[in-house]
Amino acid sequence: NIDEYTAFAEHLKSSTRILALLGAGLSAASGIPTFRGAGGFWREHDVTDLASPEGFFKNPSLVWQFYNYRRHQALTAMPNRAHIALAKLAKQKPGFLAITQNIDGLSEQANHSPSQLERIHGSLFEVRCTNKACEFQETNYTDPIVPALQLPEDQDIGDANFPLREVPRADLPHCPKCVDSLLRPGIVLFGEAVPQPVTERIGEWLDKGQIDLMLVIGTTAIVYPAAGYIHIARVNHARVAVVDMEVKDGDDVQREQDGDWFFQGDASVIVPELLKEVIGRVP
Ligand code: NAD
Repeated sequence: NIDEYTAFAEHLKSSTRILALLGAGLSAASGIPTFRGAGGFWREHDVTDLASPEGFFKNPSLVWQFYNYRRHQALTAMPNRAHIALAKLAKQKPGFLAITQNIDGLSEQANHSPSQLERIHGSLFEVRCTNKACEFQETNYTDPIVPALQLPEDQDIGDANFPLREVPRADLPHCPKCVDSLLRPGIVLFGEAVPQPVTERIGEWLDKGQIDLMLVIGTTAIVYPAAGYIHIARVNHARVAVVDMEVKDGDDVQREQDGDWFFQGDASVIVPELLKEVIGRVP
């Protein structure tokens, strides 16, 4: 609907404080599967085995292999036109903050200004010590430290036929500082809290008051605190624009209120189109 695009563009032009909540759908066009979407699950494993602290404790070998696989996937992916468009918007609008649930580093690769991007679920490229008293962390982790976890070059580890290995604990990545402790992915696992520095920076931004526009892109937004940010934006008078492949009934996010927009389709197509009046054409 052309009228909707025009109305959105007008509102965007006059908006100075813009908040975005980004989810796995943003990276779908880059070839990274979403969680709940079709084919989004890794083999037969339950999510609690793969992505919870209990799962890690029970079988760190499995969890390390899962995240190595995802890191490998992210390393070979390219940012799409939506990542690029949002990075350009950040340059044009200093009052724009993007909160991403993605851990794939694609917004960073698109040169999204780091001070305008908050990663609430961590990153595939971060690892840290499992010993809470230890401060060790690495923020540019790209390779498995031990050969036992290296991906075979000729096989896709995502392929269900590829046999997983039982990597002995001694061969799993260990903290270089406390030696006995295992390293773990720097991801916010199920049941864990968003790191405090991140919530603080977001809180400071929100405390500045009035929000003109809230963009919700490729996320089911049912996980807290992500879902809460939309509510906060509404309370602060934001008009909400949702971009998603699917229409979902009864979804809080998409339950339209006066002045809201819902744009259905692939984010990599819709987002550059929505932002073009402000950022120009994205090649
Ligand atoms: P989700 O998988 O729950 O939801 C994805 C949403 O994107 C759905 O509403 C779906 O309809 C929509 N979508 C799918 N393809 C799309 C496209 N091409 N364009 C626009 N929309 C599209 O993802 P979520 O809400 O981000 O929550 C999942 C959790 O899993 C998050 O915590 C995230 O950290 C993690 N995750 C991250 C990645 C990543 O880093 N790329 C990938 C999978 C899961």
